[in-house]
Amino acid sequence: MSTPIIELKSVGKSFHSADGSSRSVLESVEFTLKEGEIVALLGQSGSGKSTMLRIMAGLIPADSGQVLYRGMPLYGPADGISMVFQSFALFPWLTVQKNVELGLEAKGMPLEERMQKASEAIELIGLSGFEGALPRELSGGMRQRVGIARALVMEPDVLLMDEAFSALDVLTGERLREDILELWETGKIPTKAMLVVSHNIEEAVMMADRVLVFASDPGRVRDEIPVVLARPRQVESQEVRGLIDNVYGLMTAGAMRTGRMTEKESKLGLGARLPEAEISRLEGILEVLAEEPFLGRADLPKLAEETELTDQELFNVSSALTILGFAMVEKGDILLTALGRQYAGENNAERKAIFSKQLIENVPLIAYIRHGLLQDPSGDLHEDLFLKLLRFSLDESEAESALRVAIEWGRYGDLFEYNFNTGVLNIPKDEDLVSD
Ligand code: ADP
Ligand code: MG
Repeated sequence: MSTPIIELKSVGKSFHSADGSSRSVLESVEFTLKEGEIVALLGQSGSGKSTMLRIMAGLIPADSGQVLYRGMPLYGPADGISMVFQSFALFPWLTVQKNVELGLEAKGMPLEERMQKASEAIELIGLSGFEGALPRELSGGMRQRVGIARALVMEPDVLLMDEAFSALDVLTGERLREDILELWETGKIPTKAMLVVSHNIEEAVMMADRVLVFASDPGRVRDEIPVVLARPRQVESQEVRGLIDNVYGLMTAGAMRTGRMTEKESKLGLGARLPEAEISRLEGILEVLAEEPFLGRADLPKLAEETELTDQELFNVSSALTILGFAMVEKGDILLTALGRQYAGENNAERKAIFSKQLIENVPLIAYIRHGLLQDPSGDLHEDLFLKLLRFSLDESEAESALRVAIEWGRYGDLFEYNFNTGVLNIPKDEDLVSD
C-alpha cells in the first residue's frame, strides 16, 4: 500500500494571461499517488486540478519541481498512464471499435492483436454489440464508456479521470462509477492506482481512499481526508453522511478564503474572482434559509438536496452570501447573520438599500467601478476599462465572469446602469446628486 507510483515534488506551473503577464496556477504542489489507492481531488473550478492531472499524465511539463513515475523523471506521455476526460473526446467519424483501437495503433500493435484487445475492453465496460456504432448513435453514458474503454485498452498502471462523470446525468454517472469500482475491486483491470477529479463531494467520498481538497490562487493541496471504509459503500450510511459533511465544511471554508482574497486584492485596487451567483438565486436561498425547517441554520448537503443546486452552485451562493455579510459557514453548516435574517424579511426597496451598502463595503471591484463613474466628468465609462484591469490578476474568461457578476450585482443595487448593446456603464440618471 505504500509504493509510490507518481510523485509530485514542489511542482509549480504558470500560464500567460491575455496581457502577457504570467499567472501562477500551481505552486509547491506536493502529492504522491501510491499503489493500491484511489484518490479523489476536489476544488473550486479554476483551481488547477486539470492542470495538475495533465502534468501527471505527461501531457504538459511542470515549470518547476519534479514529477516522478515509478521513481523516474516523467518527460512526456508515459505508456502506463491513461487519462479520461470530461468531454468524451471521441473521433466522430470512427466506430466504437476504431476509437478504442486508436491508442494501440499508435503504439504500432499489429491489427489482429489490437482488434482482440479492443473487443476485450469494449466487453469489460459493457458495450458488447456496439463495436460498429458511431459515437453520435450512442447516449452520453455510452460515449463515456467508450472513452473509458479507450483508456483501459492500454492496460494502464495509473488511471487519471478528469470529471469523467460530470457531463452525465446523475444515475448514468453513478452506474458507470460503480462499474469502474467493481473492475477495480475484482482486479479485472491491471490498474494499480487511480486519481479522480470530481466536483461532486458524494462521488469523491463514495470512491476514494483519501479525498484531497485543492486551494485556489495558486492551486495546491490544502486538506486531506482519509476515507477508511470498505467498498462498496452505502451512500445513506452514517459514516458516509458524516464524511460528506466534513468535506462540505472544508470546501466552504475554502470558498470563504476566496472572500478574504478579495480583501487582500482590494489593497491593490484590482479585482478578484467573484462567485457566479444570480441575485434571484441568492435571495431564494436566503428565504429558504430563514424559513422552516432551517430557521437560520442549514446543513449544506441538506440544503443542496432541498434546493436541487449542484455543489458548485451551492458554493457560489454560500461564498457570495459570505462576501456580502449575509451568512457564515461553519463545519458544513450555513448560518444566517442578523443582517441576512433582516434582509430575508424586508421588502424590495429596503433590500436594495441594504444590498448596495454591502456591495460598496465588501466588493472592491464594485466600489471601484462606482468610484470611477462618479469621478468621470461624463459619468459613463466603457466596461473594457475594467476588463483590462481585471486581466492583470485573472485570465480572460475569469475576468469576464468577474465583471459580469459585478455588473449584475451593481445594477441590482442601483449603483450603476449598464447598456448591453454598447458595453457602457453609467451612474443612474435619476440619482440624487447629493448621495456619496
Ligand atoms: P480546474 O480543472 O481546477 O477547473 P484548470 O487546471 O483547468 O482548473 O485551470 C486553472 C487555471 O489555469 C484557470 O484559471 C485556467 O483558465 C488556467 N489555464 C489552464 N490551462 C491554460 C492554458 N493552456 N493557458 C492559459 N491558462 C490556462
Ligand atoms: Mg478541470
